[in-house]
Amino acid sequence: MQYDVVVVGAGPVGATAARYAALNGASVLLIEEHTSVGSPVGCTGLLSTRAISECDVKPTNDIVLNLVRGAHVYSPNGNCLPIDGGKTKAYVVSRKMFDRKLVTMAVDAGVDVSIKTRAIGLNRTKRLQELLVLQNGVPNTITANVIIGADGVRSNIAKMAGLGNVQKVLSGIQIEAPYTSNDADFVELFMGSQAPGFFGWTVPVSETISRIGLAVPTGNESHAIQYLNILLNSNKEIFERCYGGVLDIVYGGIPLGPQSKTVADGVLIVGDAAGQVKPTSGGGVYTGAACAKIAGEVAASSAIEEDASVNRLNEYDKRWRAKLGRELNLGMKIHEFIGGLSDNDLDELLGSMNTPAILDLITEYGDMDRPSILMKKMLSPTNSWQMMNVFWAFAKAVL
Ligand SMILES: Cc1cc2nc3c(=O)[nH]c(=O)nc-3n(C[C@H](O)[C@H](O)[C@H](O)COP(=O)(O)OP(=O)(O)OC[C@H]3O[C@@H](n4cnc5c(N)ncnc54)[C@H](O)[C@@H]3O)c2cc1C
Repeated sequence: MQYDVVVVGAGPVGATAARYAALNGASVLLIEEHTSVGSPVGCTGLLSTRAISECDVKPTNDIVLNLVRGAHVYSPNGNCLPIDGGKTKAYVVSRKMFDRKLVTMAVDAGVDVSIKTRAIGLNRTKRLQELLVLQNGVPNTITANVIIGADGVRSNIAKMAGLGNVQKVLSGIQIEAPYTSNDADFVELFMGSQAPGFFGWTVPVSETISRIGLAVPTGNESHAIQYLNILLNSNKEIFERCYGGVLDIVYGGIPLGPQSKTVADGVLIVGDAAGQVKPTSGGGVYTGAACAKIAGEVAASSAIEEDASVNRLNEYDKRWRAKLGRELNLGMKIHEFIGGLSDNDLDELLGSMNTPAILDLITEYGDMDRPSILMKKMLSPTNSWQMMNVFWAFAKAVL
């Protein structure tokens, strides 16, 4: 088998990269180790309206389960900061159906797909790459000009290409369970020591079912389970409305902080494999899809030019960093800052934001994909007087 481009991993990012490579004239194979696209699910499925449109998907009823317009952010002391976006800001989706839609779109663009095909080895040169796979358990070799590693948080392609590691991996765990929502238009976020270093969440699938989870920066799954048990049994908001029964369990790693190198001779990595995830929320579909389009375009043109050298592929690294690098770096700083606050600091910080003027600013400029827009507005001289209390809480927290 010989292709211009082979994409490893049929998640949303791999499917998008494969589609874009095909749309740019390359012959493309997309391989997936599992026997089924979109399964097992490792995601809450909360996608901003921008994420869905970045993937070129229409929010149809087969994919979208619920609409979300804001968040109720709970301080460790139980006080609630109500953030109302005023209109639909995000969709709760079936990731299985969403991933399948993206792979179907790739097939429509001319991509060949091979499931139950696992990449196990790689021999690289500046022109042709040999990808060793187990296809239905049988060893095979696929030749390609360019390999795109979209193989998720524990990317083997990144390792085989000698690329480094993401800066940090969080352990995420979530159940889907019967849960009486106060308002199914709002997600709930729980800050502080109940999910230290990140946050806990409930995301309503409907008025009576929610996805309830958290992530903690340990890389230790059993640690995350312990925290989830505490959240379910000790958090007053959740305990009173989660009345037993688990419909589904999801767990997975969330990579934060992009790789310092995302290209090597013959290889580029994208999505979770490259750490292209928003550090403030752990969401990787929007950022991954935006980078996947660039990866697909650059892989196709490099393959057609028969130049898969790291210098040629570096165009991808430069372009995705120009588009999202600043936002991800700022997000990482916000993540580290919030993660370092004590429960008291968080109570004070969130309490100081609970004023009509600041909530109006958040409604107008809050953007779950680009926190820098709100940060800039909050720090502008015309608004900074409203921020005095917040600054005070920040200052006290860092002193
Ligand atoms: C608990 C949790 C909740 C989350 N919630 C959200 C959310 O609400 N919104 C959001 O935007 N993001 C969320 N994320 C992050 C999101 O799931 C990822 O960022 C996104 O799935 C990344 O897509 P991807 O295609 O890069 O990787 P993946 O979706 O992980 O896909 C990688 C694919 O590669 C395949 N693969 C791996 N190795 C090989 C191999 N050697 N050969 C062949 N195939 C291989 C895997 O089977 C998999 O199908 C969450 C993550 C977790 C863990």
